[in-house]
Amino acid sequence: MTDAALASAPPVSDEVAVQITGMNKWYGQFHVLRDINLTVTRGERIVICGPSGSGKSTLIRCINRLEEHQSGHIVVDGTELTSNLRNIDKVRSEVGMVFQHFNLFPHLTVLENCTLAPMWVRKIPKREAEATAMEFLEKVRIPEQAGKYPGQLSGGQQQRVAIARSLCMRPKIMLFDEPTSALDPEMIKEVLDTMIELAREGMTMLCVTHEMGFAQAVANRVIFMDQGQIVEQNTPREFFNNPRSDRTKLFLSQIL
Ligand code: ADP
Ligand code: MG
Repeated sequence: MTDAALASAPPVSDEVAVQITGMNKWYGQFHVLRDINLTVTRGERIVICGPSGSGKSTLIRCINRLEEHQSGHIVVDGTELTSNLRNIDKVRSEVGMVFQHFNLFPHLTVLENCTLAPMWVRKIPKREAEATAMEFLEKVRIPEQAGKYPGQLSGGQQQRVAIARSLCMRPKIMLFDEPTSALDPEMIKEVLDTMIELAREGMTMLCVTHEMGFAQAVANRVIFMDQGQIVEQNTPREFFNNPRSDRTKLFLSQIL
């Protein structure tokens, strides 16, 4: 992967997609996220990295309210996340999420996995939902697997189904939480290639990943977290070549 990978990516806009201000979260007594401030504009491709336990998953899970924050504000596409269920539903319908463990429904076929939410949440007729699902299964290059069950697919194929399933809801923002960490090495590339394709089409993406080649090729911004804080953020070039904080330097020395 090179810088050329995204040569045709649409420019990042100044329209705000996600705005997080003064946000804190506790698990019981444990202060897991500390004064998080983060503005994501439409079309940004952000890679979040940092040591295990630094709060990366918790942060992106707060963005679609899989976790609740206790203070500060999270506004997604103009809608503030509060306990208002209508707002939560609206945000969830606009934000796709892909997890480390693909979280497909094992008893449904690939096609059914992809049509379930569009049919039941968006009330899209079955035939139309299936046509859309096939379109996205083609995009992730596994249309021939549509009739199979997740257990019959490789890990890389399952993760591509998970991405296609998210895309079927036509999200405005995609969140990825270590999407390649559970994959055998030979399958990592096929998933990263799918993500690169999405980035090229202008999708707003927040990706927790330790794939630093991906970060260098795709991200316009890399965020480093440690102990519940955003310690440093920069362009990939600056982040990797000229890390500022000692914690970032230590982290990079351990993973590169
Ligand atoms: P990361 O994704 O960077 O590895 P996480 O966001 O998963 O970090 O976790 C941050 C910290 O919060 C860790 O110390 C973890 O043990 C703790 N934690 C995560 N989920 C919970 C939970 N549901 N209840 C209590 N503590 C949690
Ligand atoms: Mg995590």
